[in-house]
Amino acid sequence: MILYNSLTRNKDRFVPRESGKVSMYTCGPTVYHYAHIGNLRSYIMEDILEKYFRYIGYDVKRVMNITDVGHLTSDGDVGEDKMLKGAKREHKTVLEIAKFYTDAFFSDCEKLNIKKPEICEPATSCIDQFIKLIQTLLDKGYAYSAGGNIYFDTSKLEKYYVFGDFSEEDLEVGVRETVEADGNKRNKADFVLWFTKSKFDDQELKWDSPFGVGYPGWHIECSAIASKHLGEYLDIHCGGIDNAFPHHTNEIAQSESAFGHAWCNYWFHVHHLNTAGGKMSKSKGEFLTVSLLEERGYNPLAYRFFCLQSHYRKNLVFSWENLDNAATAFNKLISRIAQLDESGEVDPVKFEEGKKLLTDALDNDLNTSLAVTALYDVFKLDTNGKTKLALLANFDRVLSLDLIRLADECRKTKDEPQAAECDAQLLSYINEMIEARAAAKKNKDFATADKIRNELLEKGIVIKDTREGTKFEIL
Ligand code: AMP
Ligand code: ZN
Repeated sequence: MILYNSLTRNKDRFVPRESGKVSMYTCGPTVYHYAHIGNLRSYIMEDILEKYFRYIGYDVKRVMNITDVGHLTSDGDVGEDKMLKGAKREHKTVLEIAKFYTDAFFSDCEKLNIKKPEICEPATSCIDQFIKLIQTLLDKGYAYSAGGNIYFDTSKLEKYYVFGDFSEEDLEVGVRETVEADGNKRNKADFVLWFTKSKFDDQELKWDSPFGVGYPGWHIECSAIASKHLGEYLDIHCGGIDNAFPHHTNEIAQSESAFGHAWCNYWFHVHHLNTAGGKMSKSKGEFLTVSLLEERGYNPLAYRFFCLQSHYRKNLVFSWENLDNAATAFNKLISRIAQLDESGEVDPVKFEEGKKLLTDALDNDLNTSLAVTALYDVFKLDTNGKTKLALLANFDRVLSLDLIRLADECRKTKDEPQAAECDAQLLSYINEMIEARAAAKKNKDFATADKIRNELLEKGIVIKDTREGTKFEIL
């Protein structure tokens, strides 16, 4: 499999350290609010990646943290702990907020068919690991104490800005803009590992430590939680592109300095879901959630389908119109699957051949938009409906769109009132095909016109050209 690696800025062949096994780490949510559908775009893509690794035979061990302490409102170590902000907003304790939004996150994931990683670890349950890692960094001379806080000393590194996608200058500006002058820092890119001093005295969660009573920085969480469960080496680390700097840059600095060797070979970054106003973000306050999509009548899986239609390394623009288009296409797809003939036997040769449609797409830097095309290509295969259904079910092990279940529902409800929706989709599909055939005939492309007629016939739809225009009959 070929994957774009932010570290090398190349599409690299993915080769895990240990044959057949993948260790995978994912930055989890900061649970001070609902996840928005932008966050969930990242988790959908990471879910596809994990499932595809499994599909091609890897044994995957995947770990995700839950950030319930230490993520400040600014990346530059200033501002309030986001969790405390959430607690104040809702007049609850930080732990109540964390529990509520962690549960809400996993409930959203379930609706979107995002598999829960087998290990999900809240930061607050790993304080001992953070302290140990910080102590190692102090002992090795990579960290220093100043003004009560413990900082990482970025000047001790040969190379701090490891992700080539950003120019050092840009990053420095980024740091400068967000950091209110912190006189304790030796270098402007230094970052906090442990806070004892905060301008917000009401920080609710604090722990005793050799460095004083306080709380961990956000970056140390991921380094420590990853090594707790996956050891000193990682195959792949995932997150949204906004995490690349400073969060992932700082994770690499901490882990490699503590372990004394290279840490993670592949970095997988999902680009943003944007609205007309720019990146969707929790801090902007106005954002879309899975519940809102449901309230507006969308199946959350139509949103998953929408995400799959575009490549993870491109920004994706959300609009209701774009989602509508995706939802219509998704419903039509289900309708077409519902019309496949279930009789007969699966042809094992065609089945194996057909699987290549999916692997060709996903081996190519997880190209989910080609994987969606592969679903449509299944209909065109020269084989029976049973084999096509088996292939669609097989692809759905990775794509997780509930294709077969929804098609079954569509079939069952044919004679019931809900069938209207299903029929409407069928009609619009037929009309589209008739239009495409008319266009082909106009261009004297009779081969395509015949192909369309035969494709419809295969589904039991007969086309008749009459004086009043093209008519059809469903057998
Ligand atoms: P957070 O809960 O803010 O820590 O973010 C959780 C994940 O969502 C991180 O991997 C972020 O990089 C990612 N993320 C944040 N905003 C967006 C967005 N608009 N589109 C895609 N991913 C995002
Ligand atoms: Zn992280």
